[in-house]
Amino acid sequence: MADCILCKVLSGEFDGSFVYRGETCSALLDISPMSTGHTLVVPNQHVGRMADLDPDLGAEMFALATRVVQAMQKSGLDMTGANLFLNDGSDAGQEIEHLHIHIAPRKPNDGVRFTHRDGGVVERADLDAVAKSIADHM
Ligand SMILES: [Zn+2]
Repeated sequence: MADCILCKVLSGEFDGSFVYRGETCSALLDISPMSTGHTLVVPNQHVGRMADLDPDLGAEMFALATRVVQAMQKSGLDMTGANLFLNDGSDAGQEIEHLHIHIAPRKPNDGVRFTHRDGGVVERADLDAVAKSIADHM
């Protein structure tokens, strides 16, 4: 897509620090990282939102994310864990509308805040109702 920053990085028009370049998806460092090594796994072709993502390509993205985490752990990066997440839509914090899985390496007392919202445990019936509404479309 012409005005997409990630497409421009993938095409070489803008610089990127690549961890991996594959045929269908690639991994590169986030320019504004949550933690050292914060990596993005992206489809090589422009895909804006989850609604547009081929599930098989999504599987390839997650497989690549898995390999990236394993490589990070072997690399000597100062980490004891990682958060993987994907923001689908601006209301969910998606800042670049080219889907990407975030991989944020973590270590004790790193100051990165990534937790459940406050509010405690949800009633099972409420959980089941939400689960069913999604399951009906699987
Ligand atoms: Zn793009």
